[in-house]
Amino acid sequence: MSEFDLIRDYFCHVGAARRDVALGVGDDCALLRVPEGFDLAVSIDTLTAGVHFLPDGDPESIGHKVLAVGLSDLAAMGAEPAWATLALTLPTADRGWIGAFCLGFARLAKRHGVQLVGGDTTRGALSVTVQVHGLVPVGTGVQRRGARPGDRIWVTGTVGDAGLALRRLGAGEPVSPFLRERLDRPLPRVTAGLSLRGLASAMIDVSDGLAADLGHILEASCVGAEVELPALPLSPEAAGYLDNRGDWTLPLASGDDYELCFTVPPDRCGAVDRLAERSGCRLSAIGVITEKPGLRCVQADGSDWGPACTGYDHFADGG
Ligand code: ADP
Ligand code: MG
Repeated sequence: MSEFDLIRDYFCHVGAARRDVALGVGDDCALLRVPEGFDLAVSIDTLTAGVHFLPDGDPESIGHKVLAVGLSDLAAMGAEPAWATLALTLPTADRGWIGAFCLGFARLAKRHGVQLVGGDTTRGALSVTVQVHGLVPVGTGVQRRGARPGDRIWVTGTVGDAGLALRRLGAGEPVSPFLRERLDRPLPRVTAGLSLRGLASAMIDVSDGLAADLGHILEASCVGAEVELPALPLSPEAAGYLDNRGDWTLPLASGDDYELCFTVPPDRCGAVDRLAERSGCRLSAIGVITEKPGLRCVQADGSDWGPACTGYDHFADGG
């Protein structure tokens, strides 16, 4: 079986069929029509076997997750997903693996109106790269640098679930279906991201850990923050774990949640409350932006939580 058979059989019709695709998979380039008055939002992510997933990991989940990670970046910009390209490096042309991978990818793509418009297929150590492209009205993309002192800090959904799944896996303990789903098939907060355009002053997706990712907003905006630890939104399982250990590093420093962290000027917080009611997506206010730089994490009794809360950094060990 050749590379071209694979492309024809698996990659030609993946995801939505969009009218703004003048030419999709099959030629030297895709031809895509960016509508007048929109900025093109572009982001790329790689998942590597042994780093981001186990080499024998479920291919359908890998297909889902690699697109979800990209869509989460678009959500954090307030951009509407449109197109994706896929660079796939495979040790063998395993049709079962590729078919399952494409199924996971295609399901999520269809759900968000994304069309796969091109890519590259090569042989080598298993690695998957997806570039996503989204559209946002000119000048309205929500950046990291817009937070101001007094803005409230919010987060979607719950934090720490993927991290708890990883801790359990690492300890050889059983992982509940809920936690497994949160780790393997995160649902990017695309709708929330779109609704927050015009409300959020800054936004980021939580991929490396809440403290680290909020830290990027603080740095880009030249501000600090106070986070009230008891306000952090936790699933019942994560809350149970925390009750037993009192270890706030779980919700603060574990990655892979793909929730959105955003800041909102006080006069727009009412609109965010109403959005939460309408959208059915949990939105929690967790703290406030301060003039004083740095991140303060405040416990229920008003004292500071000490340990440094850094997130995941691929090169942190000098690699
Ligand atoms: P080229 O030699 O011009 O790079 P390729 O032979 O790599 O072209 O690919 C042929 C066509 O198939 C191109 O349109 C390319 O975008 C598409 N393609 C290749 N691999 C993938 C993939 N994994 N997913 C989607 N499209 C792919
Ligand atoms: Mg190529």
